[in-house]
Amino acid sequence: MIKFLDLKAINDSYEPQLSNAIKSVLDSGWYLLGKELENFESEYSAFLGCKHTIGVANGLDALRLIFKAYLELGEIQEGDEVIVPAHTFIASILAITDNRLVPVLVEPDPNSFNLDSSKIEAAITPKTKAILVVHLYGQIGINQEMVDLSKKYHLKIVEDNAQAIGAKWKGKNTGNLGDASGHSFYPGKNLGALGDGGAVTTNNLELATVIRSLANYGSLEKYVHGYQGLNSRLDEIQAAVLRVKLRKLEADNNKRRFIAAYYLEHIKNSSVILPFLPQEANAANFEEHVWHLFVIKSKNRDVLQSYLEKNGIQTLIHYPIPPHKQGAYKDFNEMGYPITETLSKEVLSLPISPVMTEEEYKKVVATINSYPD
Ligand SMILES: *Cc1c(COP(=O)(O)O)cnc(C)c1O
Repeated sequence: MIKFLDLKAINDSYEPQLSNAIKSVLDSGWYLLGKELENFESEYSAFLGCKHTIGVANGLDALRLIFKAYLELGEIQEGDEVIVPAHTFIASILAITDNRLVPVLVEPDPNSFNLDSSKIEAAITPKTKAILVVHLYGQIGINQEMVDLSKKYHLKIVEDNAQAIGAKWKGKNTGNLGDASGHSFYPGKNLGALGDGGAVTTNNLELATVIRSLANYGSLEKYVHGYQGLNSRLDEIQAAVLRVKLRKLEADNNKRRFIAAYYLEHIKNSSVILPFLPQEANAANFEEHVWHLFVIKSKNRDVLQSYLEKNGIQTLIHYPIPPHKQGAYKDFNEMGYPITETLSKEVLSLPISPVMTEEEYKKVVATINSYPD
């Protein structure tokens, strides 16, 4: 069976450095808010080219904390609106509603899967304060039109960079393209911890300071609490693990690009639509995509998925039920987002990872090509 993602093999590929890093935290006797976190934060800022990184407990918290900080700073008020793609992982939307802000869902471009910038302006009202740009599946989700709109209407650009760590737009890293960005180090992400982890990045010192405080009980100085905060921190073991993995991220992303290029060149089946690339490029070196997921579309997706399963290839669906159809958002259930709904029926994520062998990715191609279309 070819696993969708072999996390054990991925983490084995960093040995013995990973075990050594964990052991050194154990030996230090210091588990939270120490040297590993400090070093990770500065190394991550250097990697992205941004000024501030605040390690937090997970990607959802990173996004929640950004909006919470804007509320504390009085730059956004309860009830204000945030534009967010209808086609995304639900955490993007939870971060908005958790802060009593209103998500305004906008349909994706069915080719790129990312927010359709031509549909944003019609969704803007006097209450709109931000666009939450999700770089879905690892591909750049921002474009010049969005940047221009954000300037015209004074909107903040918040990035959900959970899936695209290492991607670049115009030579600049995702996570450093807007006002603030949330990052996830969930084990299955391109930069994965051995448990939960996340970070906020920004170039705004005031925002960074409020977020650092909010993530630590609203406190920057022990037992002095300026805000009603929460406890959301990246612990020393995870920070040490991430420091080891960050050094190899570029190489890992390039391996994903190599496999993506192979799939793009060799998968040939008329019932399969391959992911769309926004520019003519050698996909192996394609800056604007880090291929967190390689997502194809097929009209009879479920039939294709069981065919692959029967032939020893595990696939997943990202995502089978759109956020607006979830029980969590009953008020949105009757709203129509036909492009998003169609995508949820047609998308299929193929195995892709830095540890896939040549034999494995060739088998994926051969099996799809033999699927009776
Ligand atoms: C994974 C993910 C998140 C949430 O990150 P966690 O670390 O799992 O909380 C948010 N947005 C997107 C697009 C994600 O893929």
